[in-house]
Amino acid sequence: MGKVLSVASECVPLVKTGGLADVVGALPGALAPEGWEMRVLVPAYPGLAARLGKAKGIWQDDNLFGGPAQVLCGRLDGVTILLLVAPHLYDRPGGIYSAEGRDHADNPERFAALCWVAAELARGAGSDGWRPEVLHAHDWQGGLAPAYLRYSGTTGVGTVMTIHNVAFQGIAPASRLAALRLPPGAFTRDGFEYYGSISTLKAGLVTADRITTVSPTYAEELMRPDFGLGLEGVLAERAGDLQGILNGVDAAVWSPETDAAIVPYSARRLAGKAENRQRLLREFGLGVIEGPLAIVVSRLTEQKGIDLLAGVLDGFAGAGGGFALLGTGEPGLEAAMLAAEARWPGRVAIRIGYDEALAHRMFAGGDAVLVPSRFEPCGLTQMYGLRYGTIPVVAATGGLNDTVIGASPASLLAGAATGIAFHPVDSVALAGALRRLVQLHGDPRLWSGMIRRAMKADVSWSGPARAYGALYRSLAT
Ligand code: ADP
Repeated sequence: MGKVLSVASECVPLVKTGGLADVVGALPGALAPEGWEMRVLVPAYPGLAARLGKAKGIWQDDNLFGGPAQVLCGRLDGVTILLLVAPHLYDRPGGIYSAEGRDHADNPERFAALCWVAAELARGAGSDGWRPEVLHAHDWQGGLAPAYLRYSGTTGVGTVMTIHNVAFQGIAPASRLAALRLPPGAFTRDGFEYYGSISTLKAGLVTADRITTVSPTYAEELMRPDFGLGLEGVLAERAGDLQGILNGVDAAVWSPETDAAIVPYSARRLAGKAENRQRLLREFGLGVIEGPLAIVVSRLTEQKGIDLLAGVLDGFAGAGGGFALLGTGEPGLEAAMLAAEARWPGRVAIRIGYDEALAHRMFAGGDAVLVPSRFEPCGLTQMYGLRYGTIPVVAATGGLNDTVIGASPASLLAGAATGIAFHPVDSVALAGALRRLVQLHGDPRLWSGMIRRAMKADVSWSGPARAYGALYRSLAT
């Protein structure tokens, strides 16, 4: 087996704030059949060491960025986890990045330390003698890992930097250069200097052997100013080393055939889906909905286009559609959604909160899932929609563009459409997509064909795992 060390700030099932954690947690299981043993290095936030159970120390240091530290190696759900225990950096109340709405002031050092240890372990410094052929770093928190390897002149370890969301760039003031153990000579435009500051994401992007992001379309978009957010030039220069690899869906969690939270169904036996729809209407207090029942499960932010939705719901409900939303986020957007609910009792229902089981019931019972994101590196809910035959209505951007075949006269004629895609991402185009949804839903033969095709679309990890496997092989020389 080849060996890969993955370094990230989050990993399911230990700690999650977003899709990054799902991917980092899923990769080891997905890569095993490809012949890769992947270990995951994450910080020991409060309570995590106890979750790991039996673990042994494989590395230690008396002074890791200001305090003693050690790495514990243990197994969790079949994955080898390396926990970086450094109480002065990670054992504190609040969230993993912030407390009371403010970022932890020492975030640059906290994640620099994680990367420093990743580089040490990649050189084979662990007492168990394990040494990877490839180091795989995720987002700005992992950005300094390839950089430390490069700046120390280490050879024999290939490096991959993955961008899950370029909006977070790991900016630190230039005055922290020495504290972050970075060489002043690399504080240049070709190095990790970013408009007079340090960017740990940029450090990873300029030093890693290869760069990936989570969809082919986002890989292209990232080289344009409106999506690259200042890093488009760096990425365009490395276009030859940049590749988009889609995320997959965990079939053990998201399969309508075996989902314990719903009445099970399959593409061949769709009767259960109608029962799930009835139950969902009851659960949300909705009346009879003759048109399509659209759902949203999302963070409520502008990135996700929730403001656009608020403006078009009246037209959709007026045309016979029903709408059920589960999410939390910006207070103004929560209020806009609740106002729509008040205008359309029995047609529009809103749940403010985070609830995994309810999300499953919604994907099972909905007719369509709406994802009008302004940008979407990959996106998961449109893929759950495909698995559950809940037709995705998506903005044609990022991973949404790569996973859904939008209904057009040509794609319908060819029997290929699995959803509805719209562009540009504005309320006029979204309203048009919803009119199309009502129209397609009103044609039972066409609609059931789309459902069956959607459910057969391959959104598993097998294709993505093959692509990562090939990438690692190309580096492990
Ligand atoms: P992002 O990571 O940008 O939020 P993704 O689509 O990649 O978007 O992943 C979001 C994940 O979080 C999905 O698994 C989605 O089902 C889940 N999710 C988002 N909001 C909620 C909620 N309120 N309740 C349950 N699950 C949610």
